[in-house]
Amino acid sequence: MAEPRSHRLPTSVIPERYEIELTPDLLQWTFTGEVKIAVEVRQAVREVVLNAAELVIQSVSLRSADGTPHHGNVQVDDANEQAVLSFPDLVAPGNYQLQIHFTGVLNDKLHGFYRSVYKGVDGQDKPLASTQFESTDARRAFPCWDEPAFKAVYQVTLVIDEKLTAISNARVIEETVLPGTGKKAVRFADSIKMSTYLVAFIVGDFEATEPMTADGVPLRVLAVPGKKKLADFAVAIGKASLEHFSGYYGIPYPGDKLDLIAIPDFASGAMENLGAITFRETALLVDPEKATRAELERVADVVSHENAHMWFGDLVTMKWWNGLWLNEAFATFMEMLAVDAWKPGWRRWDSFAVSRAAAMQVDGLRSTRPIEFPVDRPEEAAGMFDVLTYEKGASVLRMLEQYLGAVKFRDGIRLYLKNHAYGNAETTDLWDALEESTQQPVRAMMDGWIFQPGYPLVSVEKSGRTIRISQQIFRYLPDGSGNGRSWHVPIFLRAGTSAGVVSRILFLTEKEQQVEFDAPADWVVVNAGAHGFYRVRYSNELLAALRQGMTTQLTAVERFGLVNDCWAATLAGIVPLTDYLELIDQMSGETDVNVWTTMIASFHQMQRIFDDVQCKKLAGRLLAVLSLALERLGWSVRPGEDELSSQLRADLIRALGTVADDPVTQDRARELFAAYEKNPNAVDRNLTPALVAILAHIGGSEEYEKFFARFKTAQTPQEETRYLFALANFTDAELIDRTLDLAINGMVRTQNSPYLMREALLNKHGRERAWSFMKAHWDEMNRQYPDNAIPRMCEGVVGLVSAALERDVANFFHVHPVKQGSKQIEQHLERLRVAVACQERWRNLLRG
Ligand SMILES: [Zn+2]
Repeated sequence: MAEPRSHRLPTSVIPERYEIELTPDLLQWTFTGEVKIAVEVRQAVREVVLNAAELVIQSVSLRSADGTPHHGNVQVDDANEQAVLSFPDLVAPGNYQLQIHFTGVLNDKLHGFYRSVYKGVDGQDKPLASTQFESTDARRAFPCWDEPAFKAVYQVTLVIDEKLTAISNARVIEETVLPGTGKKAVRFADSIKMSTYLVAFIVGDFEATEPMTADGVPLRVLAVPGKKKLADFAVAIGKASLEHFSGYYGIPYPGDKLDLIAIPDFASGAMENLGAITFRETALLVDPEKATRAELERVADVVSHENAHMWFGDLVTMKWWNGLWLNEAFATFMEMLAVDAWKPGWRRWDSFAVSRAAAMQVDGLRSTRPIEFPVDRPEEAAGMFDVLTYEKGASVLRMLEQYLGAVKFRDGIRLYLKNHAYGNAETTDLWDALEESTQQPVRAMMDGWIFQPGYPLVSVEKSGRTIRISQQIFRYLPDGSGNGRSWHVPIFLRAGTSAGVVSRILFLTEKEQQVEFDAPADWVVVNAGAHGFYRVRYSNELLAALRQGMTTQLTAVERFGLVNDCWAATLAGIVPLTDYLELIDQMSGETDVNVWTTMIASFHQMQRIFDDVQCKKLAGRLLAVLSLALERLGWSVRPGEDELSSQLRADLIRALGTVADDPVTQDRARELFAAYEKNPNAVDRNLTPALVAILAHIGGSEEYEKFFARFKTAQTPQEETRYLFALANFTDAELIDRTLDLAINGMVRTQNSPYLMREALLNKHGRERAWSFMKAHWDEMNRQYPDNAIPRMCEGVVGLVSAALERDVANFFHVHPVKQGSKQIEQHLERLRVAVACQERWRNLLRG
């Protein structure tokens, strides 16, 4: 009996250079292709195995360097997405050319080589074809060695309609009109040596901005006709971040041009194809006069993130998908650096606390995983694109950078990139480079953060001049497992003593450690700067001291940590809810937008857990604290006000009008929205989304129709999604049903429908209808939606807080597993269990 074939390709034959010619048919949604692959046979073989999926292979030939043909036959192994070419005689080691003719389908699942349709300026549907290959979908466009370590050079030719534009990784070197066919052949220069998942081809009607020189190469933004006017902001951050990175890395941009391309249908946020980065429209096209600061920040973030990948990911690539964090954690970290340098006023590292907290929320579950995690099958690779790879990864890098020092850290990164340029690397290679540049035991410190799941809760107590610090794993649902785990924890300490303020960095490597001060400390901050990926639990005495000096002893991001840690401890049952609510009562003087972000998120979480009586009580309590905070800012933008204050005002108003259900705020929101309808400039652009959210919360069919019409006729991608997602937040059952229908009736792009569903599941008034709808249309949703969006949609189940619903959800996923997101589904279920446990524990609170 034959061994079951491995998903991994043998390394006996390796590709060196691909010549790919593709002819897409944008009417029939098919393509024909031919690929010539220069391969090196390293050891004699009877079989050549490479990847192919959903392709029909028409002919195959293998020729040795002297032209001798080797005839073989081809078998497609659908289960393993492989094509096996068998030869009657041994193929001896040497250089060969493998030529394959094939056909394929431009699919509607937003992966591989796929179709996209948009309304043209003339109101007609227009076709477009694009690619999305990461992780394992290049094999749907051409037969190839579709694993990141098989790096090769690609030379692409696209045969397209004369009137259309073709884009690929490198610049165009030749356009040949094919007489009598209405077509032209567009040939591109050779790419750098890179992985298959970075290859891209895009065909459609595009308008481009004037090329702008950035780091010595032309940079353009491309969009479908009519949208070029929304490209200036992306050009600016594109140029700034590219230049920032080439300076930081000390290596010039590796491509010969850079195109940033907005695609109307796109499964993720963006994709770092070398030289041809693709984006969903909301992540690239924006009107700075109309968008909120947060929406602009999102575009700046995504553009910077993808540009950072040109080095981290494209030039140096992880060897295999278990090391995805080497791409994604770094790109996320670098995105912060570049945006922070570009707009210091946005205090990007402070708002990164929100991302860090999102990672800690998942990583405090039993069902979490280490950052680096074994991967075998394609769906397991797909499951790696989560908050642990991106946000936890970036957080532990930031912690390391702060511990080592920014310059030394950068020098290590430069060394790593230089040593592995055009090649592949593993985590251990990164530690080698950082140890060489810093002479510090980086591996010993970092292995625990990368290869162990979870993170510590650091407890702090004081006795005289001594501070006792200890660590233990943090869990929302402690079950004793993982208790033996410990980390090498960099402790950034700041203390107020009678001798003044003392700062120290120390390293907690044991379970417990003591620190002596010259004089007793009045107060201590243990995660100063909040760079550490851990939570802190202060003794009552130390906590009381910090609460007294909230604004004098703690920076904004440290207050964020204090509140967020307290909320996590409350959910875990370590701190009583009454203590957390008392802390909130005390926060009306808070002026930092991020601290409010974490508080407001906790209000919504409580609302999903509480029953109606408790919600009313909560609303009353929140009204007091939110009104006081808003009073300080007022309802209108003040001259000279910074943008973060405008954002905070909007966040407070939104919370007052929704979770605090304040009728005064709701009336005012109605008036302001009416004014906005007459004159869009009558309302601060940061405030509009808050008004929309409030009106959805209190509105009826009149508002619904209005928002639906605005969704259909929106002038910017941000407005389109703003009004669309608002449709999930109405409270009337009939309106909720209308929204649910939209998720599968073809009126909403499949790139957005899963997120509309998630929003509906999180709406307390619509959640049960949404859940029933999702169960009833599960197969249809799986057929329509991009695979990667299914686990993200399912995150909405964390809102289904009741013991009965929880059982139903668990049963459902038992019967309907989501193979490309099994870990994420487990985590959603555990988050739901945490909420149900709180519901039980808090049953008698907030009633009197
Ligand atoms: Zn990325």
